[in-house]
This record gives sequence, C-alpha cells and structure tokens, in this order.
Amino acid sequence: MGGSMSFYESYDPRFGTYVMFNAPLKKLCGGFDWAEGPVWMGDAGCLLFSDIPNNRILRWTPEVGLSTYRAPSNYANGHTRDRVGRLVSCEHGSRRVTRTEWDGAITVIAEGYQGKRLNSPNDVVVKSDGSIWFSDPHYGIATDYEGYQSLQELPCNVYRVDPDGTMEAVLTDFNCPNGLAFSPDESLLYVADTGRLGHSDAQHIRVFSMASGRPKGGAVFHVIKPGASDGLRIDSDGNLWSSAGDGVHCIAPDGTLLGKILVPEIVSNICFGGRAKHQLYITATTGLYMIALNRRGVQLP
Ligand code: MG
Repeated sequence: MGGSMSFYESYDPRFGTYVMFNAPLKKLCGGFDWAEGPVWMGDAGCLLFSDIPNNRILRWTPEVGLSTYRAPSNYANGHTRDRVGRLVSCEHGSRRVTRTEWDGAITVIAEGYQGKRLNSPNDVVVKSDGSIWFSDPHYGIATDYEGYQSLQELPCNVYRVDPDGTMEAVLTDFNCPNGLAFSPDESLLYVADTGRLGHSDAQHIRVFSMASGRPKGGAVFHVIKPGASDGLRIDSDGNLWSSAGDGVHCIAPDGTLLGKILVPEIVSNICFGGRAKHQLYITATTGLYMIALNRRGVQLP
C-alpha cells in the first residue's frame, strides 16, 4: 500500500471498492486555457481533448505525450465516438456537430434546426441504435472566448439525430443542457443543466426514462455542489462520475454521493480510457489528469 489518500473524500462505504488508495492522481500535461471534451481512442492508444479558447484539439499518448491533433478546431468542445469508432465532435465556432470519417474527411451531422442556426453544440453521445444525441447551450456564442459572440437563434435544447439524418429537439425545458450520458442498458438518460452564463441557476443532473425511445420524466437526480456537471460518464455498475468544482464526484444510481476525487483545478469533463477502460482521464481547466480506478467505464471502444 502506498500513495497519498489525501485526494479522496469518501461518503459511503461503496466508494472504497471503486477507488484504489495506492493509485496516484497524475497530472499528465498542462498549459491549456480551458481543457474539455476528452475521448479515448483505444485503437490509436491516445486521448483526444479540446483546448477550447486556443481553438485546438490535442492528442496525448503515454509514449509521446502531448501533440496537436487538429488546429484550428472550430473551437471544438465535446467529443465521442460513434458505434463504428468514428470521431464525433461538437464545434462552437461553426455551430455544428461533425463526424471525422476514417479518411479524415469531415461530415456535417447537424448545424441548424427548423431554419435557424444551432447555438454552440457542447457535448455528445451516440446510442447503440446509431442515433446521435447532443446538447446545445449558448456558451460558445455568449462571448468571444470559446467561439464567436453571436445572436442566439434557438432555445438551449437537446437534439437527437437519427442515422437517416432526421433531427428532432427531444428536450426543450433546460436553461443550459450540458453533459449527457445513457445508463449501461440505455433505459435511462442523464442530462446535466449548468445554467445560463452569469446566472446562479441550479447545477443539477436530471434523469429521463427511455422506455418509449424518447426521454420522459426529467426529475432532478442529483444536485452538484460545488461547481457544475459539465461532463459525466457511467461505469459498469451504473454509477455516474461527474465533473464538479472541486474534482470528480461519484454518484450511485440512487442519486447518493458516494465519494469524490479531489482535483487541484476545476474539472470540466472526464472519460474512461486505457487498456480496460479502468483509467479516468480528467480535463481540468489548464491540466490533463488521470487516475486508475477499480471499476471499468461503459465506453467505446
Ligand atoms: Mg460541457
């Protein structure tokens, strides 16, 4: 047994079985202005993530360290992979969601709805039926810091894009939807509300039933304090791992806060990666961190 325990806070005995007290919280690299949108590319053995204000997507590998994947990136934010491994990205600057094909070509998946431009797509997940779900808050057009200050044309909705290209606003009652994730069996959809820029709206995660194929319900599942659930991921037991102002919070499927990984910078987003998806990669303001967990993430591939 070794390593520091000082970066864990446990609130429930279950948390002790999810973390390893001899696994360090490692800072892998830094120097960013606002890092977000991590996605593990298992086949390439690398992590991709956005440095939004610097208009670039970065790549980190254990062997080489940090390099540039794409710059300019249209102020890209959240990323995921679709069911055949292609990169799907939210872009603030171009106000669209794109897919990077295997040959590197960029395909536009969504850029407008009912004749109006999207705001600034923020975070994205792909369901097993191939549908693409993304949040569209206003953060990327509210200032020139993470995109281009522009007029908002649409409410801050969550959209679903069918594999046939049909687009649908599926959640329309959010202040600012942000991180989103399906439960392991896809019976539930979790969506974070991080509130309007400059307002003190509630920072919480809502839960929706997916029994009918479309989200129903939407009760508040968990209130994040301090900070916000800018990004969340699910482990194989259905626990939620969410960004927060003081680190990463682990929340049980019943909504109980089990414990925290304290990170020295405000955390924006997280993803599971590594050989067994047992490593938690953490984008936190100016730095990229990683910690090994005793739990595997539900994540492709
Ligand atoms: Mg986000």
